[in-house]
Amino acid sequence: MPRFVIDAPSVPTLPVEGSDALFPVRRVYCIGRNYAAHTIEMGGDPDREPPFFFQKNPDNLDSSGEFPYPPKSSDVHHELEMLVALKSGGTNIPVDKALDHVFGYAVCLDMTRRDLQGEAKDLRRPWEIGKAFERSAPCGPVVPAARIGHPDRGLVELKVNGTARQTGDLGQMIWKVPEMIAYLSDYFELAAGDVIMSGTPSGVAAVQRGDVLEGRIEGVGTFTVTVV
Ligand code: MN
Repeated sequence: MPRFVIDAPSVPTLPVEGSDALFPVRRVYCIGRNYAAHTIEMGGDPDREPPFFFQKNPDNLDSSGEFPYPPKSSDVHHELEMLVALKSGGTNIPVDKALDHVFGYAVCLDMTRRDLQGEAKDLRRPWEIGKAFERSAPCGPVVPAARIGHPDRGLVELKVNGTARQTGDLGQMIWKVPEMIAYLSDYFELAAGDVIMSGTPSGVAAVQRGDVLEGRIEGVGTFTVTVV
């Protein structure tokens, strides 16, 4: 066993549906603008943009079911997304082999300090201040692909206090899951424990303390988060 000069931080984990064992998280990649209607609502052109990615911190993932309203923002948005959890990785992974690396899928939220992200965009600065804050990635349990397969179509819906706010379909993704894995593996070495947040459909909007966010992805499951 190595010795450390300070207490070593623990490995961030996600629960796994139907198991007592946990999924350990190494890196968190997030794609931007992966549904045409959301690209348009954010001022982009869905026909001309190659994919782009940003990262959150592994310990931003949180399965407690509570999202503490973060400091330094008055415009925090929900983005409902499907999370892809990898059991293996590599470089230059071909599209037709990409799904072999997937352990499972989860319902998650890419919570965003939209005001701070907007300032960063205007100043051509990085996005971390808007995206990678504490508990910014509420996430349900990982559901093994061994049980549900690899969902590539099906309803993606977020209800806020019982009213549908975001509605889309996995089939509307501009960059499909195998393409995202292949693309990332050309730029980074992917590995077991990496997760990919696969983008949000249109309808992103601000949350308030007390809001109940109910995410549902057909073929994966549901996850409920309360803003506190
Ligand atoms: Mn997002």
